[in-house]
Amino acid sequence: MPDIKFVENKNLKEKPDVSKIGFGTHFTDYMFVVDYDKGEGWHDARIVPFENVSVSPANTTLHYGQAIFEGAKAYRYKGNKAVIFRAKDHMERLNNSARILDIPEVPIELSMAGLKKLVSIEKNWIPSGAGQSLYIRPFIFANDPYLGVNVSSHYKFMIILSPVAAYYAHGFAPVKIMVEDKYVRAVRGGLGEAKTPANYAASLHAGMIAHQKGYDQTLWLDGVERKYIEEVGSMNILFKIKGEVVTPELDGSILNGITRRTVLQVAKDWGVPAVERKISIDEVIQAHADGTLEEVFGSGTAAVISPVAVLAYKGKEYTIGDGKIGAFAQKMYDYIDKLHTGEAEDKFGFIEYVDEF
Ligand SMILES: *Cc1c(COP(=O)(O)O)cnc(C)c1O
Repeated sequence: MPDIKFVENKNLKEKPDVSKIGFGTHFTDYMFVVDYDKGEGWHDARIVPFENVSVSPANTTLHYGQAIFEGAKAYRYKGNKAVIFRAKDHMERLNNSARILDIPEVPIELSMAGLKKLVSIEKNWIPSGAGQSLYIRPFIFANDPYLGVNVSSHYKFMIILSPVAAYYAHGFAPVKIMVEDKYVRAVRGGLGEAKTPANYAASLHAGMIAHQKGYDQTLWLDGVERKYIEEVGSMNILFKIKGEVVTPELDGSILNGITRRTVLQVAKDWGVPAVERKISIDEVIQAHADGTLEEVFGSGTAAVISPVAVLAYKGKEYTIGDGKIGAFAQKMYDYIDKLHTGEAEDKFGFIEYVDEF
């Protein structure tokens, strides 16, 4: 068991009304911190009061962006347990992102021990309303105080926690998505498969234009031919065509989403064919014309499942089905929600037990 120091917080916060605070605005009383120094490795694991971080104005991350993150969730399970959904998958993906950005990997025993101890201490922050959870944000950033362009020698790994409501405050709502054929998010051989701030920075401008045009998010096409579907930027994308679930294969430029994995596993378990392959925007438009495009939905930890009502491409809008939530997306959301809370049996082994209430 890694040794984790604990520093008590004498000024505990009042817990907010989670239904009124939006996403990622309030943080719990404690955070987990570990330092890395070249030669010494990861050291001084500790749980300390949530507070600001002090860095040099020459901090490498501020200038060159060598940073990665994760997003997971803790739930109240069967009414009396604190659990984390697919915790180890998230920590393993953090290390995959670390390899892509030449950040030192965090031993899984250390990241899991820190995560579980932090969530255990903060378990009373896990909200209990429908669809509510405690969002978990692990992240690592380079922390050298030099302007030289180099792989850093110093890093911080931190985990902070934020209580969040159901993503769609007014019920599960379908979104309008703009297919982006000018800007690109990532290319094969780049950072697309890493969960890294750079990919978000690259997506903001196109996202703003989509918003101005009345769309909720951007659907990215591949960076080379602008032909094949990639993902939505903070979500993976899935199509249901002629009874089959189709999602773009992992080719190095899209994120290996954990909710995407869950959906594929559950679909197969239900006997619904689910394939990962290249799918072009032309094929999607053709399926719409043929009447075989049954549903489109996004998947991601924040919203879980996000049904798509409208796809806009080259100035034309395509309404999916009757523009309402598809039956398969609804059934998938309901079932994953039950896996989170223990109403459905954990037959896939997704639940990481943390503590009792
Ligand atoms: C986090 C993220 C997703 C969703 O992944 P989950 O593991 O399902 O939360 C999809 N795309 C990008 C770019 C992401 O950063």
